[in-house]
Amino acid sequence: MDDRPPCRPETLAARLDGYLCGDTGAIVPPIHPSSTYARDADYAQIGGRGYSRDDNPTYLQAEHVLAQLEGGAAAMLFASGIAAIAALFQALQPGDHAVVSRDMYFGTAKLLREVLIPWGLRCDMVDTADLDALRDAVKPGVTKLVFVETPANPTWAVTDIAGAAAIAHAAGALLAVDNTSASPALCRPIAHGADLVVHSATKYLNGHSDVVAGAVVTAADTKLWQRIGRIRFLAGPVLGPFEAWLLLRGMRTLFIRVRAAGANAQRIAEHFDGHKAIAQVCYPGLPGFPGHAIAARQMEGGFGGMLSLRVAGGRDAAMRAISRVRIFIRATSLGGVESLIEHRATIEKEDGTVPDDLLRLSVGIEAVEDLIADLEQALAG
Ligand SMILES: *Cc1c(COP(=O)(O)O)cnc(C)c1O
Repeated sequence: MDDRPPCRPETLAARLDGYLCGDTGAIVPPIHPSSTYARDADYAQIGGRGYSRDDNPTYLQAEHVLAQLEGGAAAMLFASGIAAIAALFQALQPGDHAVVSRDMYFGTAKLLREVLIPWGLRCDMVDTADLDALRDAVKPGVTKLVFVETPANPTWAVTDIAGAAAIAHAAGALLAVDNTSASPALCRPIAHGADLVVHSATKYLNGHSDVVAGAVVTAADTKLWQRIGRIRFLAGPVLGPFEAWLLLRGMRTLFIRVRAAGANAQRIAEHFDGHKAIAQVCYPGLPGFPGHAIAARQMEGGFGGMLSLRVAGGRDAAMRAISRVRIFIRATSLGGVESLIEHRATIEKEDGTVPDDLLRLSVGIEAVEDLIADLEQALAG
């Protein structure tokens, strides 16, 4: 729709950037399940495409909307968040050096350790919330990529995106941000200097715990971006068109979901901050949380739906509380409309660094009174 006035991201998301089918008047895009595309009698492609491992009109719709939401030049969907992250690192050359956040989603750390480092990536993990530590780890002219997650699983440590971008760029490296936990409803890393953004679209972007998907968004059409596209085409971790369509549908309500979850999380964090059954609340929205000021600067509209509670009394008290919840669902993953609770140390086992008194909450959009009452009864006694 070329005659539309410029509009805010909330409008863009709700309206899928003004989608309207000129032929039918449909206001919802179709699903294109076709895996292959016909050629004409001169053997030219009729619609400009040949095969759905390369692209597909349904992916393109979702990629277009996501690129707009992140303020990027382009987006690329993947079969999962981890596939997107793997493609980003594999677009480097074996032997290239990267610096990554020490606090990050456990699956990314395992991917680095078990797949990418054996493949040839050289990689240092540092506390990127500490910009001095990041500056020390980045090797000018050698480091190709700085990869940070903020707020980071499951401590919600905050990395200063603009500060990290300045350090990366001064050394000739690119900055990639895993923006899964904030989502573009709260943070747009490209506006703060990031070159690339990755997502587990399984989480807030889709938001209904019914799709596994991932994405990379780029600030500019670079050689590295082209290489990421080659890797998706050649290695094949594409998303199915039905999943891409569900993701499109989920993104329409991104802002309202993320804000509702964030408002609930803020209330829960404030309620349990200083509570006798809780040793520590880890949530960037609390003024006493390290990184709160940076989060307030680079996030807009709240601090997100993710928080962790460190239970007073250690592992046993944490396990007793998690066994007693009745509204929170004991499950992994995050970013859905329903509230989930997880004992990360059990999941990460001996490889993990998460304290065993920590319960990670993915706060949903239920009535916050119900959520607080559930946690209160679970922690009582
Ligand atoms: C879940 C998650 C991933 C991995 O995404 P999948 O869709 O599960 O492959 C990566 N980063 C973060 C921050 C996540 O929460």
